[in-house]
Amino acid sequence: MAIERTLSIIKPDATNRNLTGKINAKFEEAGLRIVAQKRIHLTKAQAGKFYEVHAERPFYDELCDFMASAPVVVQVLEGEGAIAKNREVMGATNPADAAPGTIRAEFAQSVGENSVHGSDAPETAAAEIAYFFSGLELVG
Ligand code: ATP
Ligand code: MG
Repeated sequence: MAIERTLSIIKPDATNRNLTGKINAKFEEAGLRIVAQKRIHLTKAQAGKFYEVHAERPFYDELCDFMASAPVVVQVLEGEGAIAKNREVMGATNPADAAPGTIRAEFAQSVGENSVHGSDAPETAAAEIAYFFSGLELVG
């Protein structure tokens, strides 16, 4: 398994509840290294561009409002098979379906306010990392 990088976002429901440290501990315990990280407050337009792939879904407007409602923490996680590993640590989109011990099982509030985002493939990981970080910010 190759060393990969993936884009992670700690979403507003989690930053509101002061859960950044607890969520980062889950990543680090799983062997994922946080090689870049910053706290930003997205505009609705910036959130909309990030989630453009979901533009036709009924929850798109609600999702963009939510992602712009409070600060988020965007981060790059690195490790062996980091893309799949991160999605394992996150758990299923709907917390009701998330495996015990996963971030969403422990912290998510609903299918929409589900505490974290993680890239789903190498191509989306590369595009999503480039959306938020310059090469100089990927410090290893
Ligand atoms: P993410 O892309 O945020 O990592 P995911 O890949 O598990 O999550 P997607 O299907 O890509 O899930 O959906 C993107 C996001 O849209 C979800 O994380 C959630 O915040 C929101 N979402 C998905 N389905 C619903 C729904 N049925 N109702 C409300 N919001 C939803
Ligand atoms: Mg997704």
